[in-house]
Amino acid sequence: MHEKLKKLGLDLPLLPTTTVGSFPKPQELIDARRTIRRPFLTDIGGLESLEKKATQDWVNTQEGIGLDILVDGEMYRGDMVAYFAKRLNGFKGTRSGLVRSYGNRYYRKPIITGEVQWKGPITVNWWKFTQGLTRKPVKGIVTGPYTMMDWSFNEYYPSRREACLALAKALHEEVKALAKAGAKIIQVDEPAISARPEELPEFAIEAMQMVTRGVDAYFISHICYGAFEFIYPGMLELPVDNFDLEMSNSELDLIELFREHPFSKDLSFGVVDVHSHIVESVELVKQRIQRALEVLKPEQLWIDPDCGLKTRTREETVNKLKAMVRATQDTRAHLGGESSRRTGR
Ligand SMILES: [Zn+2]
Repeated sequence: MHEKLKKLGLDLPLLPTTTVGSFPKPQELIDARRTIRRPFLTDIGGLESLEKKATQDWVNTQEGIGLDILVDGEMYRGDMVAYFAKRLNGFKGTRSGLVRSYGNRYYRKPIITGEVQWKGPITVNWWKFTQGLTRKPVKGIVTGPYTMMDWSFNEYYPSRREACLALAKALHEEVKALAKAGAKIIQVDEPAISARPEELPEFAIEAMQMVTRGVDAYFISHICYGAFEFIYPGMLELPVDNFDLEMSNSELDLIELFREHPFSKDLSFGVVDVHSHIVESVELVKQRIQRALEVLKPEQLWIDPDCGLKTRTREETVNKLKAMVRATQDTRAHLGGESSRRTGR
C-alpha cells in the first residue's frame, strides 16, 4: 500500500511506527473530569484547556520518542462509544449492559431511540488542533459502526443490520469531514467486529464500505484480539488498507492463521502488550518483529502497541514505546543491510 500512501503525499519509512490511539491522562485532567460535569459542553471550568495542554504534551512526547505517525491521545474522550453517541442524533441516555471486549464486563451502554444522524463534526477540531502542533502525520480516529451498534442498546431500528448501516451512514460524514480537513490516515476502530462472526458477511463489510466509500484516505481498522479464527480470512474483505491487530497478548498465535492464508493487506502489528505493567525489552520486541516478517513482507508491516495505552502509567507508556521504536530502528538497519547486499550495493 506504499503506492497509495505516496499518492496521498505521505513519505513514510519502512516499518512505520505509530500507536493505537489513547494515552494515559495526567492526574490534573483526571481530577478535573471527575469534578466537572459537562454532558454536552466543551469548556466548562477550563476543562478544554487542560485537555489541550495534555494533548500538546503527548505530541511533544511522541515526537521525542521518534514515532512516525502521531495520535491526539484522546485526552477529551471518556469511552470510545459514548463519546460518539453523545454527539450524534438518535441516542438518548445510557443503561448498564454487558459488553464483550477483552473478557466480559458491565459497562454503561448508550441507547438508540431515534434515527441516527450526523449533526456536525465530532473529532475534526481535535484532529486539526493536534495536526497544527506537528509536521508528522496525525491519524484521524473514529469508532466504527459495527462496534457502535454492538455496544449500544437498539430500541429504534428493527434489526442490528439496520442500526449498523444507519451508524455507517452517519460516520461516513465524519470520515469525509476528517479527510476534508486534511487527515490522510483514518482509523476506524472495530474491537467488536468478531462478536457475531455470521454478521461479518451479512452486513459488517457493507457498513465499512459505506463509511470509507469515495473518501481519499489510507484506512486502518483497529481490532483487538477476538475470535479471529472465525472471521479470518473473511475479514480481509473489509475495505480498508491496513488492519491494526492485537498480537502480543495472544503470544502471536495469529501468525499461524496467516501462514495458512496469507495476509493480503498492510498490518499494524501489536508488539507490546498494553495489559501488562512489564516493559518489554528491545530484544523481545525485535523478536516479535522478526516473527511478523516470517509471514509478511517488510513493505506490509507497521509497528505499534496491541491497543490503546490509557490504562498504563505515563512512565510505562513512554518506556514501552521507546523499546518499540528502538527495536524498529534496529530492524530497519538490518533490513537495509540485507537489501543492499541483495542489490549488490
Ligand atoms: Zn484495542
